[in-house]
Amino acid sequence: MLVQSDYHIHASFYRIKAPDAVIGPAAAEQLSAARNAGSCFVGIVEHCNASPKHPFHCLEELSEEYYGPDFDRNKAYLGVEADLADDGSDYCSPVGRKQLKLHYVIGSVHILSEKISELNAYIDMEYRRISNALKYNDNVEIIGHPFGEGFRFEKSGASPRWSWSLIPEKYLEDILRLASESGKALEINRCDFEDPVYLDFLKRIRDGKIVFSVGSDAHRTQNTGNAAIRTRMLEKLGFSEDHHWRVKE
Ligand SMILES: [Zn+2]
Ligand SMILES: [Zn+2]
Repeated sequence: MLVQSDYHIHASFYRIKAPDAVIGPAAAEQLSAARNAGSCFVGIVEHCNASPKHPFHCLEELSEEYYGPDFDRNKAYLGVEADLADDGSDYCSPVGRKQLKLHYVIGSVHILSEKISELNAYIDMEYRRISNALKYNDNVEIIGHPFGEGFRFEKSGASPRWSWSLIPEKYLEDILRLASESGKALEINRCDFEDPVYLDFLKRIRDGKIVFSVGSDAHRTQNTGNAAIRTRMLEKLGFSEDHHWRVKE
């Protein structure tokens, strides 16, 4: 049995809204949705990157809600999802982390603001940023959705069908080895359990006793149940709770 945990839930209330935008959930709403979806350990985050939608003051407001008198912080934690740079550093940095009183940082690669149109350039960039973060970044505990942006190329029509077989085997091997050496967690998020190469990657995480974490990546309350689906799948694959990432307290 795995203890259902979800460390990647967005309090998307805390972002700059277009005048006609649907207002996203605050941290308390997401926490209660995650509890209803069966998650025992819950981590609330928002993006920390150069996007004009996510200025730093939004994260300060999220932190205020989390540390406010009414918030139930029992087994509920505060993190950010920070974009990684080529050298492996993250957009939040230890200074931002301290200021926001974070429990953890997820380091992710996003292509939305990068203007990368070529799939192989994206794959190389994701590899470079993840491997450098695993080697050099002490501020990051979790690598968010590794190669999780590939599907966007298929969606936009820029590339044929996305599949993990497009990632060079050396990249996957290096990431697994560096994760193992660093003790950082690889996140199970944006999964395609039908993809045989991805499934094999998961089995190598399991067999290599590499630390893993589960993220629903819910931006709306309805999607917090993704953590349950992913956790059950990992149970079926024989993942052990011994290597399930937790906040160090
Ligand atoms: Zn992300
Ligand atoms: Zn996310």
